[in-house]
Amino acid sequence: MDTCFVCRKHNGLESAPPGGYIYEDEHWMVCHAPGKLGPLGTLFIESKRHFLDYAEMTNEESASLGDVMRKIYHNLKLLTEAERVYQVTMMDGAPHFQSWLVPRRVTDTEKGMKFLARDDSCSDEDAAALAEKLREAMKK
Ligand SMILES: [Zn+2]
Repeated sequence: MDTCFVCRKHNGLESAPPGGYIYEDEHWMVCHAPGKLGPLGTLFIESKRHFLDYAEMTNEESASLGDVMRKIYHNLKLLTEAERVYQVTMMDGAPHFQSWLVPRRVTDTEKGMKFLARDDSCSDEDAAALAEKLREAMKK
C-alpha cells in the first residue's frame, strides 16, 4: 500500500532502519528502532504482508510468529543482558502489524508501564552496531 508507512519502509521509500534489517523470512522482518524512539535494543517485528493484527493473520503467519519471536527473544536477551523483553503492539501509527520489543535490563530501576513511559533513547550508531550483532546471531 502506497500510503502505509511500514509498506513504504519495506519498499525503500522511507529511511532504512539503523544498521538495516536484522532478520527477514517469508512472513516477518525485524529491525532496530530509530535511536530516538527507545533504549538500545528496541526492535520492531513487522509483517511482510499488509494487515492490521492477529485477527487477520493467515495460519502460516500465526504459526511461524512464535518461532521467530523465540529466536529474537533469546538473542536480544543474550546481547542486551535484558531481564525482560516487553512487547507492545498498537498499530496506531500505521494499520500494519508491528510489535515493539523493548529490553528491560537488570540495572533499570523502573518496571512495567513506568519503564515504557520513560523518554529513553540511544544513538543510531549504537543501534546499528547492535543490529549487526543480532543479524549474525539470528543466522545460527
Ligand atoms: Zn502496510
